[in-house]
Amino acid sequence: MKQAHIFIVGAGPVGVVTALACAQRGFKVTLVESAIEVDNSPRAATTHSSTLEMIETLGLTDRFTAEGLVARYFDFWDQPNQKLIARFDHDLLKDETKFPYVVQTEQHKLAHMGLDKLKEYPDVSVHFSTLFDSLSQDSDGVNVTVVQNGEKQTIRADYLVAADGARSTVRKELDIAFEGMTWSERFVVITVLNDFEKLLGCCFRNYLAAPTEWGNLFKVSGDNGTGRWRVVYPSLIDSTDEADLADGPVYERLQKICDLGSNYQIVHRNIYRVHQRVAATFHKGRVFLAGDSAHVNNPIGGLGLNSGIHDAMELSDMLNAVHRGTEDALVFDRYERRRRDLNIEFVQQQTIANKRRLEETDPAKRQAALDELKTTVDSPELHKKFLMRSSLIDSVRKSKSIA
Ligand SMILES: Cc1cc2nc3c(=O)[nH]c(=O)nc-3n(C[C@H](O)[C@H](O)[C@H](O)COP(=O)(O)OP(=O)(O)OC[C@H]3O[C@@H](n4cnc5c(N)ncnc54)[C@H](O)[C@@H]3O)c2cc1C
Repeated sequence: MKQAHIFIVGAGPVGVVTALACAQRGFKVTLVESAIEVDNSPRAATTHSSTLEMIETLGLTDRFTAEGLVARYFDFWDQPNQKLIARFDHDLLKDETKFPYVVQTEQHKLAHMGLDKLKEYPDVSVHFSTLFDSLSQDSDGVNVTVVQNGEKQTIRADYLVAADGARSTVRKELDIAFEGMTWSERFVVITVLNDFEKLLGCCFRNYLAAPTEWGNLFKVSGDNGTGRWRVVYPSLIDSTDEADLADGPVYERLQKICDLGSNYQIVHRNIYRVHQRVAATFHKGRVFLAGDSAHVNNPIGGLGLNSGIHDAMELSDMLNAVHRGTEDALVFDRYERRRRDLNIEFVQQQTIANKRRLEETDPAKRQAALDELKTTVDSPELHKKFLMRSSLIDSVRKSKSIA
């Protein structure tokens, strides 16, 4: 059988995982990345049980866990009253998954370990500083034009996977609409060395409910493994990025989470515009969208990259089945039925609900939302049901039932 060639645009975590999954299935793989190196900026870290099962099939579990932090719990706090409302315990999933916890491993570490693993495969070539420019396709394959060292070259592949992020050039080239909306506030992400576990008595993953001043608080291990905390909160209304990231407003905001005195140990600050968008279609002919090129969402719940990794695994299995003749090309539409529909049902719906729950301003509705969380954790049945959905185990199981 002729070896099929998969061309992947973007060496973010989704592109690298797709490349590795395709290499492991015997494909020839070309991976191109426009940047000179992997983007190391602080973004995703929370990796759920369902995704850990996929990472195991890639042979990365030991390194992925060693370079991250295992988080059994996540907490919801009534922030203004500094009161713990509900502690969710992944251990309730122990009969459902080999990984009844979350692993907090920064996304650039996943990209690096995936790239290292790809070196074991002789038919894989990875090119940084190489920009996807354009494509054309026919019934047998895709012609991909890239720019490298200022020169254009065209490469023939059997399929193309666009893992080129939220602003995907491939998606625009195919004229696929990115349907949805953009939140009016931006999200500030501050990384600090202050140890909130000691200061606040919180766990490694915390959701802070507060009208207008809600937030998320997470621990990651950091590149040196000594630990650091990410604080995520909405920008001030009508403010500029520079003003939001200035010392004064940042200190004031951190102080509302707990008393840091004058001991602010800030090591990184960033601000993001946040969207809830899903591509109108996830494939055209032999070109497929995966990860943020296909869908974006707010980070509350840590679902975006998880969903992107699920795309990568579904796609590599599907291309393998078509190439080996166990499925025909009609199954390409199933990729959309599974990944697009499930992203809307599990990722878009949950992340929007998570944000609404934290930011509720109406006192009665706010109290009802907090009471509901408490009722949920207090009932073993509801507690487990919540975790099955938040960890995307339900999504993966439902996916298998979609023909
Ligand atoms: C603050 C924050 C926190 C988050 N937390 C979580 C979390 O805890 N859990 C979670 O699941 N998700 C989280 N997310 C979402 C997660 O970061 C994204 O879903 C993830 O980065 C998507 O990966 P990707 O590989 O699809 O895209 P990207 O990481 O954006 O990578 C795309 C790559 O394509 C390259 N590229 C672009 N155009 C071209 C071109 N023309 N040619 C060649 N290369 C190109 C880019 O340089 C880039 O390297 C978070 C996001 C933010 C902003």
